[in-house]
Amino acid sequence: MNKSLRPFNTFGIEAGAKRIIEINSVPQLRAVLKELTEPFYVLGGGSNILLLNDLEGVVLKMSIPEIKIERSFKHAVYLSAGGGVNWHQLVLFSVKNDLGGLENLSLIPGTVGASPMQNIGAYGVEIKDVFHKLEAVEIATGKVKIFRKKALAFGYRNSVFKNKLKGKYIIAKVWFKLSKPPHRLRLSYGAIKTVLSASGIDQPTIQDISDAVIKIRSEKLPDPKEIGNAGSFFKNPVIDVKSFSKLQADYAEIPHYPQVDGTVKLPAAWLIERCGWKGKRIGDTGTHVRQALVLVNYGKAKGAEIHALALKIQESVRQKFKISLEMEVNIWQ
Ligand code: FAD
Ligand code: NAP
Repeated sequence: MNKSLRPFNTFGIEAGAKRIIEINSVPQLRAVLKELTEPFYVLGGGSNILLLNDLEGVVLKMSIPEIKIERSFKHAVYLSAGGGVNWHQLVLFSVKNDLGGLENLSLIPGTVGASPMQNIGAYGVEIKDVFHKLEAVEIATGKVKIFRKKALAFGYRNSVFKNKLKGKYIIAKVWFKLSKPPHRLRLSYGAIKTVLSASGIDQPTIQDISDAVIKIRSEKLPDPKEIGNAGSFFKNPVIDVKSFSKLQADYAEIPHYPQVDGTVKLPAAWLIERCGWKGKRIGDTGTHVRQALVLVNYGKAKGAEIHALALKIQESVRQKFKISLEMEVNIWQ
């Protein structure tokens, strides 16, 4: 293998690929797809992948640039960004220009192009709330296609690109519909309110919210530059009310969040912690001391070792709570 992928994945896993081709435009992407005869992998910021071994193929590193204000109306602005734009840079741009909607999603690693894949979300907001449309290139034909919101079938950490259209398109550009002031602020997450009131802010701006989210995240989540990780390794399970009632009978203190469709979301971190995994270390892998949902690489862990730990955690949670945790991180092999 010629090219190390270690700098290209936030887990910091040492694995190789035959080549890395940087993609800077749609015409170049189409030309590359036409020429390629080997298997390939589409890479953004590498913050949601786990490399199990060397890749028998080529990596297309998405670097299509540019943030642009496309159209501006009295109450709304349409903003577009190339698939290779850093997500947090886009959020900072929107906040600086007083465009509302992305502020709760501050400091999420990765690229704009990957954001619709799992409908990224945090602190009560998902990109589906501000998504307008996207442009993608069909891998089989090189055709450029526009997808509007309905076609993406967004769900909790889910979209059509993780299901029916998995591996079929490469996202080149995304448009968002953002608000002009007065903004509708999303303060439903307790921690945001706590940080704002500790700073004496009772009439927050979107800048205040972004700052609060950055503060909370910096204190709670491990920085991949210091300790390899890919954020939450598993999705928070969503179960039906009947199963929840049974669970609550045994664990009265279980934290839970009723959903609008009548189901109940449980924090996977709590389930994992209750199985005794929080802060546990096996060799160079483990779960983070402050957040059991985040699996970490203490230095030289192999992807397969982190994967083996994830399987053990899944099994413990299944045994104790009869709940199947679904992996959120994309496994590459
Ligand atoms: P990558 O890891 O490079 O790729 C992820 C998947 O998307 C791969 O399957 C890849 O093939 C595919 N892909 C990437 N780009 C494209 C493209 N242009 N076209 C088609 N397919 C593509 N996620 C959240 O939702 N909320 C959070 O709050 C959050 N916090 C995190 C905190 C930390 C510390 C870390 C490390 C991760 C966190 N994540 C979070 C996960 C991650 O940041 C997101 O999933 C992010 O969108 C991944 O972007 P990426 O560019 O790094 O994607
Ligand atoms: P947290 O605040 O400790 O909460 C634990 C879980 O309970 C969250 O994952 C969240 O589900 C749910 N929750 C908490 N308060 C809620 C509320 N008021 N309404 C509905 N659900 C609530 O979580 P955290 O680990 O510190 O993360 C904070 C936010 O950043 C969360 O939104 C989380 O999803 C996001 N995050 C995501 C990743 C990732 O890689 N995907 C990594 C780090 C942080 P939700 O996840 O549905 O919000």
